[in-house]
Amino acid sequence: MVLKIGVIGTGAIGQDHIRRITNTLSGGKIVAVTDVNQEQAKAVVKNQNLDAVIYDDGHELIKSEDVDAVVVTSWGPTHEEFVLAAIQAGKPVFCEKPLATTAEGCKRIVDAEITHGKPLVQVGYMRRYDTGYRALKKVIESGQIGEALMVHCAHRNPTVPDTYTGDMSIVDTFIHEIDVLRWLLNDDYVSVQIVAPRKTSKALEHLQDPIMVLLETKQGVRIDAEVFVNCQYGYDIQCQVVGETGIANLPEPSSVVLRSEAKKSTEILVDWKDRFIDSYDTELQDWINSTLKGEVNGPTAWDGYVAAVTSDACLEAKKSGNIVPISLGERPDFYYKTLTAAGKL
Ligand code: NAP
Repeated sequence: MVLKIGVIGTGAIGQDHIRRITNTLSGGKIVAVTDVNQEQAKAVVKNQNLDAVIYDDGHELIKSEDVDAVVVTSWGPTHEEFVLAAIQAGKPVFCEKPLATTAEGCKRIVDAEITHGKPLVQVGYMRRYDTGYRALKKVIESGQIGEALMVHCAHRNPTVPDTYTGDMSIVDTFIHEIDVLRWLLNDDYVSVQIVAPRKTSKALEHLQDPIMVLLETKQGVRIDAEVFVNCQYGYDIQCQVVGETGIANLPEPSSVVLRSEAKKSTEILVDWKDRFIDSYDTELQDWINSTLKGEVNGPTAWDGYVAAVTSDACLEAKKSGNIVPISLGERPDFYYKTLTAAGKL
C-alpha cells in the first residue's frame, strides 16, 4: 500500500522532504502540494517531476479525498491551523517544528487529538532519529553508566545571519536540545536558569552570544547546555552524560582521520543539514511506515506541547536571569497508552 501525501509549504525543508519521499524513501507518494507562493509550488512540481495536484490553500488540500496524510512544512505561525484541520479531517499529520508558536496553541492540538480519540500527530524533532543519539540512549538505558546524574552539552553554529534574534537561540536553536534531552533521559524538566558569559566579539551587537542554559529535571539531573551560535569553527553538537559509574558521550559524526604535515586531524562539519541529513530520512520513513499501520511512533503532540512550555520558560529565564519553574501538568493518559502500546516508554 502506498501512502498518498499532501505537502503544505514548498519552501526549503518542504522541498527537501518532497525529494526524500519521492527519491529516497519507500511507501509514500506526493499527490498534492500547496504554498502561499503558488509559483514556487508549480516550480517544485515541475522541477521534481511530480504527478501532484497544486491546491490553492492548505485547507482544500487537507479535505481532498486523494490525500491520505499531510506534511506541514509551511511557516511556523501557520502550523496550528493546518494541524487542527488535519485532526478535524481525521488525517495523520507530520508537522515540522514548532507544532504551534505558543504553548496554548500546542495544548489546543493536544486537546483536539484526545477528543478525536486516536493519535494522528507527529512533530519533526528529528534528533531522536539520529544514530548517535540512539546509541547514547541505548547505553543510558542499559544501565552501563548507572543512573544519569549530570549532562553537559553544547550547540554551536559557525555564524548566524543578521536577522537572527536573541529569542531564536531558544526557539530555533536550543529547541532541539529541549526535545532530545528529555527523550534521552526519559525525564521532564522542572526549572531553568540562563546565564550569560562574556560576550564574543564575533556576535552582532543585539545578540548575547554565547548563553548557558541550566536545566533541572524531575529526577534531579542537572543539565548545562552552551548555546554558541557564532563559534566560527563549525557546526558542533556535543552531549556528555555523567552517570554513577561511567560517562557516555554522543558519538562524533564519522570522518577520516588525516595524518599529514606532522598533524593528526579530522574535519568538523559546518552545515547543520549535513549533520542530521540521515536522521531526516529515518524520521520520515518511520512516519510513513507507522502511519500505514495507523500508529504514531515518533514525537507526539504532547512532546510538541512540552517543548513549547519549556521554551517559554527559557525565554522568561533569559530575560529575568531568575530560576524559572517549568510546569507541565500531568501527561494525559492518552499519550501514556499510545506510547506504551508502541513500546516507547
Ligand atoms: P521556508 O523556506 O520559509 O518555507 C516555508 C514555506 O511555507 C514558504 O514557501 C512559505 O511561503 C510557505 N507558507 C507560508 N505560509 C503558508 C500557508 N499559509 N500555506 C502554505 N504555505 C505557506 O522555511 P523552511 O526553512 O522550509 O521552514 C519551514 C518550517 O520547518 C519552519 O517551521 C521551520 O522551523 C521548520 N524547520 C525544521 C527543521 C528541523 O531541523 N526539524 C529545519 C528547517 C526548518 P513564503 O515564502 O511565500 O512566505
